[in-house]
Amino acid sequence: MSLPADYHMHTWLCRHAVGEPVDYAARAVALGLKEIAFTDHSPMPKYFDYWRMLLEDLSTYVEKVRVAQKQFPNLVIRLAMEVDYLPGGEDWVRELAKMYPWDFFIGSVHYVSDTWAVDDPKELSKWKERDPYEVWEAYFDRLGMAAQSGLFEIIGHADLPKKFGIYPKRDCTAMFERFLDIAKKSGVALDINTAGLRKDCKEIYPSPAFMKLAAARQIPITFGSDSHDPIEVAMGFDKAVEMVRGLGYTHYCRFEQHRRLDTKIGD
Ligand code: FE
Ligand code: FE
Ligand code: ZN
Repeated sequence: MSLPADYHMHTWLCRHAVGEPVDYAARAVALGLKEIAFTDHSPMPKYFDYWRMLLEDLSTYVEKVRVAQKQFPNLVIRLAMEVDYLPGGEDWVRELAKMYPWDFFIGSVHYVSDTWAVDDPKELSKWKERDPYEVWEAYFDRLGMAAQSGLFEIIGHADLPKKFGIYPKRDCTAMFERFLDIAKKSGVALDINTAGLRKDCKEIYPSPAFMKLAAARQIPITFGSDSHDPIEVAMGFDKAVEMVRGLGYTHYCRFEQHRRLDTKIGD
C-alpha cells in the first residue's frame, strides 16, 4: 500500500519550521510518497504575528517549491498555502489567490479574536481566563464562515482548540454538526491532520467522534502531517488511514489547479 499524498507541510520561511522544500521532498521520496503539497502559513499585508511567511518572502517560497519540483520530477509537488481565515479578511485571501497559480488553499482558523491564536503556546495562559466551551464556539463559528467563504478547498485541523488537551465540559456534538452541515453544503474537504498525535491532545485532528459525523455526511478528506520538520513528513499516516477506513472512507482527494481528484486510499 502506498501512503496517501501529504497535503500539509511548512518550510523555514514561516519562521517557526525548519527545512527547505527540497528537504521535505527528499524525505517524501525516501518514504515512497507519490505526491506532496507545500502549505506554508500565508503572509498578511503587513506585520501580523511571528509565525507566518513575510509578504516579501512569498516569491522566494514559490521559487523554492519550483526548484523542488524540478529536482524531484517523479514526485508530484503541489503549490499551496495554509491561509488564516479571519472575518473581514476575505479580500486579502482573494488577492493572495491571484498572485500565483496555486493548486489549492487550506483554510485554517487559529485566531478566535483579532489577537488570540488558540494554538499558540505563548498564549496558553489565555485559556485560563475563558470558558473552553465559549472558545470552541467562537472557533467553530469562524470555521463555518471559512467553509462558507468559498475561498478554500480544504479546512485545516478542524478541532484545533483541543491541542493543549483543554476540552469543554459540555457536549459539543451539536456544534460539530452545525459546522459539518455547512462544510457539506460548501463542498470543502477536511484535513486529516496527524500533528495532533504529537501534541498534548495526543489525537489526530479531527477526533474519531468528529470524523464519524463527517463520514455520515460523506465529507471528503485529505491527509496532512502538518510537518514543521522534514522528519515529520507523513508521520502518523498509518494511524490516519486506519481511522478513516474504520469509518468507511475508501477515497481521499487531491487537488490540481483547484480541481478535485478523488483517489483511492492505498493507490
Ligand atoms: Fe495550522
Ligand atoms: Fe499547518
Ligand atoms: Zn505552523
